[in-house]
Amino acid sequence: AAEEGFDLEEVADDLAAAGHGPLPVLAVVGRPNVGKSTLVNRIIGRREAVVEDRPGVTRDRVTYEAHWNGRRFKIVDTGGWEQDVLGIDASVAAQAEFAIEAADAVVFVVDSTVGATDTDEAVVKLLRRAGKPVVLCANKVDGPSGEADAAMLWSLGLGEPYPVSSLHGRGTGDLLDAVLEVLPQAPAQTFGEALGGPRRVALIGRPNVGKSSLLNKVAGEERVVVNELAGTTRDPVDELIQLGGKTWKFVDTAGIRRRVHLTEGADYYASLRTAAALEKAEVAVILVDASETLSVQDTRIVSMAVDAGRACVIAYNKWDQLDEERRYYLEREIEQDLVQVQWAPRVNVSALTGRHMEKLVPAIETALAGWETRIPTGRLNAFLGELVAAHPHPIRGGKQPRILFGTQAGTKPPRFVLFASGFLEAGYRRFIERRLREEFGFEGTPIQISVRVRE
Ligand code: GDP
Ligand code: GDP
Repeated sequence: AAEEGFDLEEVADDLAAAGHGPLPVLAVVGRPNVGKSTLVNRIIGRREAVVEDRPGVTRDRVTYEAHWNGRRFKIVDTGGWEQDVLGIDASVAAQAEFAIEAADAVVFVVDSTVGATDTDEAVVKLLRRAGKPVVLCANKVDGPSGEADAAMLWSLGLGEPYPVSSLHGRGTGDLLDAVLEVLPQAPAQTFGEALGGPRRVALIGRPNVGKSSLLNKVAGEERVVVNELAGTTRDPVDELIQLGGKTWKFVDTAGIRRRVHLTEGADYYASLRTAAALEKAEVAVILVDASETLSVQDTRIVSMAVDAGRACVIAYNKWDQLDEERRYYLEREIEQDLVQVQWAPRVNVSALTGRHMEKLVPAIETALAGWETRIPTGRLNAFLGELVAAHPHPIRGGKQPRILFGTQAGTKPPRFVLFASGFLEAGYRRFIERRLREEFGFEGTPIQISVRVRE
């Protein structure tokens, strides 16, 4: 492949430098209607209207990728945490909690035409507790006359208020410059990882599938509560648990144990917890209640784990409650609704009886191994060469796109870049993914394939 004029090592380095690694997370928080979603849209260059049929509840994506001045980061849109759904205080508390647990830096948005309200002051207190860097956005400064309103927000004690008009784009550049100054290059967790800390597991699933029961079962009596930021007043959120002779860090267990008494917004709140836990974890144990019909919420949680690029294990809980008939229908439902994670190791457990608890760790280890698999470039190209010779891309418009070569740009999850002489159809890409899995395993991990068309 060298005669094609690419240096594979160089390409891999470029991709790594371009941020094909874990990205730092920026959370945008503030009261409803201050303009959070407008600001997020402006930053990520999204044009869709910020209109929701059912505010909050329908919005399942909360994390987007953004870039500024050559740096990439993730941005969390908390604009859907509406007051109708959660109540102002709950929505604000939930945002702050997310910021505390999952974000590396925070943009706090205040409506400068309204000024600082009591709720804003309350958020400031919560953010102080978080100890994460905060940049203050004085929003709705649409023209120079609004600058004075912005200056009033010095009173919040968060430092310089950046006057911004999210609607028109005014001042967003300076705001983002300030953000990049405080946002770390990589998420905090990767430092712990570099030090060889325990593997981080997120136990996720919709309410009532049995997460806290499972946690209690596996934690037993030997639970150790970890407080990562010793000396701060924040709640302990992670637990170290001994399992299969190893120590694992179950992230965000406080969120699992704490019963949130919300009715209408509970589902949405749960999906935010899921997003926060996934941000911190390496592997997701996705708990499903096998005794009930799989729900849209189950598949949505699965998608969140896959989209977050985490290693995945699916645990079918409440197995003690299954009769023959339910088992039959469950298998049909899995085939139909969970095709997207056919590759995930599966365990059928009961948090109640302890059934098959010992299978959990091997499944987690399998998934992590798949997640970290690296295929040497030579082997990958030998495989691609044979594949393409045996199954060439269909001819389209008299042309036949060829894969020139490929390289694995990263792991966790495995990311491949294929260099091609033309556009590769989605169906062909899926075919390649299937064959990659057949050849190299990748059990328990999503894999990402991007195609670069050579000019
Ligand atoms: P969120 O609830 O905090 O996400 O707020 P939204 O982004 O949905 O914005 C609430 C309202 O404020 C919408 O009608 C926006 O068009 C408006 N808005 C947002 N940013 C600005 C701004 O910079 N200037 C003005 N004049 N209006 C804004
Ligand atoms: P969470 O909301 O996901 O944390 O779910 P919980 O752990 O609170 O469990 C919800 C309900 O399911 C409780 O009544 C549990 O006792 C019950 N439950 C949990 N795991 C099992 C199981 O394996 N079998 C049975 N029969 N019930 C279970």
